[in-house]
Amino acid sequence: MSETITIRCPSDGREVGRVATLDTTQVRQRIDALREAQAEWEAMGPRGRAHHLYRWRDWLLANEQHLADVLQSETGKPRAEATIEAPLACDFINYFARNAERFLQDSRRKPHGPLGLPKKLLTLRRPYAVVGVISPWNFPLAMPTMDVVPALAAGAAVALKPSEVTPLSALELARGWREIGAPAVFDVLTGPGTTGAALVESVDFVQFTGSTATGKAVAQQAAARLIPYSLELGGKDPAIVLADADLDRAVEGIAWGGLFNAGQVCVSIERVYVEAPIYDQFVARLSDRVQRLRQGADDRHFRFDVGPLATPAQRDLVETQVIDAVNSGAKALAGGNRGARGNFFEPTVLVDVDHSMACMSEETFGPTLPVMKVADAAEAIRLANQSPYGLSATIWTGNPEAAIRLARHLQVGAVNVNDALSNLFNFALPHSGWKSSGVGSRFGGADGVRKYTRQQAITVPRSSLMKRELLWYPYGPRKGKFVSRVLRLITARGLARFIAR
Ligand code: NDP
Repeated sequence: MSETITIRCPSDGREVGRVATLDTTQVRQRIDALREAQAEWEAMGPRGRAHHLYRWRDWLLANEQHLADVLQSETGKPRAEATIEAPLACDFINYFARNAERFLQDSRRKPHGPLGLPKKLLTLRRPYAVVGVISPWNFPLAMPTMDVVPALAAGAAVALKPSEVTPLSALELARGWREIGAPAVFDVLTGPGTTGAALVESVDFVQFTGSTATGKAVAQQAAARLIPYSLELGGKDPAIVLADADLDRAVEGIAWGGLFNAGQVCVSIERVYVEAPIYDQFVARLSDRVQRLRQGADDRHFRFDVGPLATPAQRDLVETQVIDAVNSGAKALAGGNRGARGNFFEPTVLVDVDHSMACMSEETFGPTLPVMKVADAAEAIRLANQSPYGLSATIWTGNPEAAIRLARHLQVGAVNVNDALSNLFNFALPHSGWKSSGVGSRFGGADGVRKYTRQQAITVPRSSLMKRELLWYPYGPRKGKFVSRVLRLITARGLARFIAR
């Protein structure tokens, strides 16, 4: 009999579910079944597939409150954050289902030159048969659908391995797919990291979201099998607040951008650089705002703003960073302590920090906002780039054009001006990590679907009258000379067309 994993609510540690641990053989069998079903799914075409995707959307909306309950049970998220995941998933579905036909259209190509003229040229987009999606615990419903939906729209079958910390929402997604009567091209494979590694052994493309350390292991395993992969990894995203910023908006936006989902967002604001003239005012207002946030175990009544961390280990990591910073001279102007129960850690504002402290140089993935004073924008850019990560950044200013000029100096995959996280909600844009934050990208309009396909080149003779091509047998001196003259005429330039040197 399979082993099971117990799922606990991070707010109070109560058991909320159990799931099976799938071993290598079970993973292979389930992926073989997906592979079997995929050909028909591909043959259905984008419109046929969109029909099922829209029905899935309707199922998600019909079950919205229940899905939010499940999300809250396994993450402890506030209701306000749990209730946005299903509608967000529906937004992905609408976008990719509506556009997949256009994104995947066959494309006629012009010949590269005279030698190509006798042929009609075409490229087709053919999906990888089985795409493996491995996802983390921070958005157990919205995050997997970001990848599952475009892969399904592309015509691939999809095996999803959710985090062992939060697999219940993913299982709900699979239940919905079954209940709408869609073909068996989507499956959820539960288990720990070893189940993820088994998935990488059997699929044809890996879409991984998680830590940089695990991402490297996945990349090595995929490389050994010569299968492509795309990695969305960790970050240490900076916010740059310039002296001309609208302080009301900057304070609200940075508080939310750093503390949304208790800071467990890949593109969370994890460090803040503020120009000297407004620094005192900014930190006073930010710490006041953060102190007024309500933290607790939420119910269906939208009573709290900030929830717990997903695991005790994650809470301990945040606590260690804060204690280390304070021991090295930092001050907590808000928060700074673990909660009395569950995995809570208070929303925290730290000042008097510098890059020697882990809270400024290592990923936190928690509810902390360390703030540093800088002389000017140039210093802010220099410090922002001083990181192995390059996921995203935010710039807060009264001059958006200047912000776009500054963005050209930032080594990150996205820059949000006077807003946080917003690139993630705009699927026409690519979401990609630079440096240690990733390889490849998700979304990005047509690229979001095309990444799950391979190009297939097709050539067809324009005329059916010719019984032989020029280069075919038989070979002989007259034909050989003729062919080499023709090739010279076409490929050489100037006099060399006619005279061999
Ligand atoms: P992990 O890297 O620990 O895990 C991610 C997923 O990989 C989980 O499903 C995990 O399973 C699985 N896994 C673990 N080991 C292996 C393995 N050897 N082979 C295949 N799969 C494996 O990340 P976390 O879940 O802790 O998520 C937090 C991290 O994710 C942060 O670093 C964050 O920055 C990053 N992240 C990046 C995002 C982006 O878009 N760039 C978005 C969100 C998060 P299990 O949980 O069961 O161990």
